[in-house]
Amino acid sequence: MDFSKMLHTFSVVPSLSGDLSPLQRIAYNLWWCWEPDAINLFRRMDADLWQATRHNPVEMLGILQQTTLETLQSDEGFMAHLKMVDEKLDDYLQEKTWFQKNADGHSTMKVAYFSMEYGLHESIPIYSGGLGILAGDHLKSASDLGIPLVGVGLLYRQGYFRQYLNNEGWQQEYYPENDFYNLPLVLERDDSGTPHTIELEFGPRKFLARIWRVQVGRVPLYLLDTNLEENSPEDRLITAKLYFGDQEMRMLQEILLGIGGIRALRTMGILPNICHMNEGHAAFLALERIRLLMERRDVDFSEAREIVRAGNVFTTHTPVEAGIDHFPESLLEKYFGRYYHSLGLSSNEFFGLGRQNPKNHQESFCMAVLALKLASHANGVSQLHGEVSRKMWRNIWPELPDEQLPLTYVTNGVHTRTWMSYQMSSLLVRYLGNRWRDDPADHGAWRRIARIPDAELWRTQQSCREKLVDFARKRLKQQLVKVGATLKEISIAEEVLDPEVLTIGFARRFATYKRGTLLLRDLDRLARILNNPEMPVQIIFAGKAHPQDHEGKELIRQIVQVSHQERFRHRIVFIEDYDMEVARHLVQGVDVWLNTPLRPMEASGTSGMKVAFNGGLNMSVLDGWWCEGYQRNNGWAIGKGEVYEDTEYQNQVEGRAVYDLLEKEVVPHFYERGSDGIPRAWVGTMKASLQSLCPVFSTERMVQEYTTTTYIPSYAQWNRLVADDLALALDLARWKERIFKAWPQVRIEHAEAQVSEAVAVGSSIPIGARVALGELELDEVAVEGYFGVLDSTGVIQGGESVTLEHVSALGNAVHQFAGRIECRFCGRHGFMLRVMPRHKLLGPIYEPGYLLWG
Ligand SMILES: *Cc1c(COP(=O)(O)O)cnc(C)c1O
Repeated sequence: MDFSKMLHTFSVVPSLSGDLSPLQRIAYNLWWCWEPDAINLFRRMDADLWQATRHNPVEMLGILQQTTLETLQSDEGFMAHLKMVDEKLDDYLQEKTWFQKNADGHSTMKVAYFSMEYGLHESIPIYSGGLGILAGDHLKSASDLGIPLVGVGLLYRQGYFRQYLNNEGWQQEYYPENDFYNLPLVLERDDSGTPHTIELEFGPRKFLARIWRVQVGRVPLYLLDTNLEENSPEDRLITAKLYFGDQEMRMLQEILLGIGGIRALRTMGILPNICHMNEGHAAFLALERIRLLMERRDVDFSEAREIVRAGNVFTTHTPVEAGIDHFPESLLEKYFGRYYHSLGLSSNEFFGLGRQNPKNHQESFCMAVLALKLASHANGVSQLHGEVSRKMWRNIWPELPDEQLPLTYVTNGVHTRTWMSYQMSSLLVRYLGNRWRDDPADHGAWRRIARIPDAELWRTQQSCREKLVDFARKRLKQQLVKVGATLKEISIAEEVLDPEVLTIGFARRFATYKRGTLLLRDLDRLARILNNPEMPVQIIFAGKAHPQDHEGKELIRQIVQVSHQERFRHRIVFIEDYDMEVARHLVQGVDVWLNTPLRPMEASGTSGMKVAFNGGLNMSVLDGWWCEGYQRNNGWAIGKGEVYEDTEYQNQVEGRAVYDLLEKEVVPHFYERGSDGIPRAWVGTMKASLQSLCPVFSTERMVQEYTTTTYIPSYAQWNRLVADDLALALDLARWKERIFKAWPQVRIEHAEAQVSEAVAVGSSIPIGARVALGELELDEVAVEGYFGVLDSTGVIQGGESVTLEHVSALGNAVHQFAGRIECRFCGRHGFMLRVMPRHKLLGPIYEPGYLLWG
């Protein structure tokens, strides 16, 4: 018998009447999770229940006994606290924001941010790691800054797996069900109260999705869910788990995110003009935007593409191609066969959108390439990652030199108030006032860190470390109880670690490139460092390996086995189930954060930034963000940013460097105490770290940067293209078509520079060019000189371009152009000429295949 058919469902919601009703409002706005007064309010209601619900106020409010609620209602202290938090939320929602103050004239800008995962809080487990946490922090800062932005993602029934370790230290996974009705989710409905649903029909699949909303301060996050009774069992599984299943499942999830996401927004009447794709997963959205424009405005693919491209922004997070989704043509044909026909594309044109070289049939369809081709702004997530990305994707723009590729960087950050400990933020308020909180990107505000007395900063650090040790012991004890350890073993857990000892944290995904076991290469040497009676050291590990990553699991097993050795028992701990709660305790309590990626595999990394906001110090390979953050006096660099051919050799060198640094610098620095027991030099480094890193590595700075360098320019361009009934977009598409046809006749006939062998710095050299234009008009081309210092291989480094002016017509559509290049640097220079199409309103336009070098 199929009981599910007989099941009538209904939901029970907490009944919070009258004076307690603000609790409901606060619980349903994730603003609470970065407001310590709100967190304390919930904790104070029932500390044990707060813990047991994984800090989930909606669930807690549902379980609380009516009698408890009545007691609270008659508790004057509690009611005053509640009123204060309620008013704070009002103030937050009403205050004048950075965007309102700075972005006049962008009042109809609307950004939709798309991401496969969101890490907002441990109680909403729809994230796996860095990418999701970044997306969560992006939304929180967008809310703080008042950016007109909505988020779009998927609501997974089971999210990412939870981790525990068996007796041998081997990772086990389990997938608890998320009970949507016990999460701060609101089902989006139309005016008549019917849930909004969208329909997707792709290949053999036809399914519906519902839309849930999570409110993140001012920013709504819309999450799609296919677990509907109307759907087939297979389709209900599309939103079952994050990063799980085969390629086909991944494609369905990405169809839902990108195409379903756009449809969901439309259904609710939200029409974004800027869409931000957080990683390539979301890139199908660009196709749907094009399709919709074609349908609604009766334009063709290339016309619609001009507009949509202007309004798309893409952020890539991966420094290796293998880390990005590629789909085989068979799968695309299966699901997109009808769809690309509706776009007016042939199969080749469609597959070409996902290939670096559209004509290379060997290339599989890559989501990052699709995103890069259909976005006007693209960026990596640190300066180094920007460089790496340009190398990875340079074949998309074969005629451009590396430094001119339309792929820049915006370095990641973290949401200050989410990650900073309460102790630290109270200390800062006391000595710095509120400016650092209202405007975390203001360097001036953070300089005042110098005013904090050393003793106070140190005491704060001490108390956070104590909290961490306490947390680690509790967790370890729970872990041991779960695997049936003996009482003796459990009692040892209560004594592991020492709140006075230099504490190193290492927590991250156990992917092999992160080299989680670099520190374990020489166990005898490690034992001497950790057990030095005058200067002891302890290490706390945490992190998950992907369920299919055996090597990663093996690394975890090794660490756990080492931590069981008698000599390490009190000094090394592995905390299970790394999530935002564990991360928070770690980043707030450690003295040193160790990071040992294999350069340049860490695109950015953000956990070290969280540590910096709490006064901890970074000790890291010069990779990702640390290349920009490290300044000699604010932490430590492992190595100098070398990349060796031989990875094993590199591990050897850098493993030794870690021990050397610890023995010679880090540990003695920490234990060098004054007569009052305070390590003044260490506190000095803490202050240097706080002052130099906090104003830079926050998502407040990051989202401001996205807004000013990508959202607003994209929006302006989009606006120009759609004004007057899409006039410019239509003109542009037609113009391009004509230019492309005429282009083969364009030739550089002659290039010259009047230059003697040696030229003094500061002088300028005249250059000239004779160019045949064929059928093109004079103002339809840009003739440029591209020049700069040559490297040893004769390639121009960091080149600049200068526009040549028209001098005379030589007949037969041949023209003379001239200009001057400035020699501002010493060294061997080179120059080249190039000709590009130029639109009369939009200026020079680069299109792959239509740039001529001579
Ligand atoms: C911050 C964070 C990450 C990302 O850290 P990396 O520095 O990129 O390794 C991953 N997981 C959790 C739970 C985090 O809080």
